[in-house]
Amino acid sequence: MHAGNHIDQGSGAIRTPIVMANSYALPEDPSGLDWSGTDVPLYTRNSGENQKALQAKLAALEGSEDAVALASGAAALHAVFFTFLDSGDHIVVADVTYEATWRLFAELLPRNYGVQATFVDAADLDAVAAAIRPNTRLVHVETIGNPTTKVTDIAAVARLAHAVGALLSVDSTFTPPPLYRPLADGADLVVYSLTKYINGHGDAMGGAVIGRRELIQQIKADAMVDVGGVISPFNAWLVTRGSVTRPLRMTRHLESAQIVAEFLDADPRVVFVAYPGLPSHPQHELATRQFGGRGYGAVLAFAL
Ligand SMILES: *Cc1c(COP(=O)(O)O)cnc(C)c1O
Repeated sequence: MHAGNHIDQGSGAIRTPIVMANSYALPEDPSGLDWSGTDVPLYTRNSGENQKALQAKLAALEGSEDAVALASGAAALHAVFFTFLDSGDHIVVADVTYEATWRLFAELLPRNYGVQATFVDAADLDAVAAAIRPNTRLVHVETIGNPTTKVTDIAAVARLAHAVGALLSVDSTFTPPPLYRPLADGADLVVYSLTKYINGHGDAMGGAVIGRRELIQQIKADAMVDVGGVISPFNAWLVTRGSVTRPLRMTRHLESAQIVAEFLDADPRVVFVAYPGLPSHPQHELATRQFGGRGYGAVLAFAL
């Protein structure tokens, strides 16, 4: 909960203060400085006090080496795709994803960069295996699809992706810790919209990618420093602060969603309820196993 927080050397404050400065003091002799560096305090698009605190916290949350915080979840998704896909590369992407992801692969990245995308039912492992090609560079799925709540078997999809040397990136916005940690099941990159459960207070947008240092450093160097969709120091501070209560909020979200899902499911006016916590959900058993019985997310879909 408190990872990334540090005592301020100047004031002695025990919570990391908000540092809105664009620039940081240079050393007396700056000739050895890496002006594109992503860890030296230099310029807020490279690195800043509050971004660094948030990134350290998010890496700790996932038990990983490094994290990059960006302006929104969509910026974080784009950062992964921009950094790891070249013209002509092939990606396998789940056929149910957040709208921005769908449009990036249905229109923008193929049109602007010649990236080839195959959309696949990520809950059907045979279909995923059949969609992966020798030039597949990336497989991208959501733990629980937004909004149909289709659940992906992350460990199985990771094995399929790694067999051809592709990376697996997982949008885990619906399932943040303590519910689930996709890296432990073999994902290479985890993407979050911090705007949702991690901040939790509806007052700041943010996004993040978490994973091994070697991969995150590439995202920082390419998509953060040179594309520039950085999170503001104030929003980084708000997300850091909001996320302190995340374990308590998640527990309540999960309990409430189960109650609402069962209530709707029992009402004859409701045609269907899609929620992985209902035994009628097609991936109920997978969700129980994958999320360790801790819960099933807190988003559901239903029709009257
Ligand atoms: C909201 C959302 C995003 C996009 O995040 P923003 O912070 O709104 O840009 C990405 N993925 C999922 C699953 C989301 O729900």
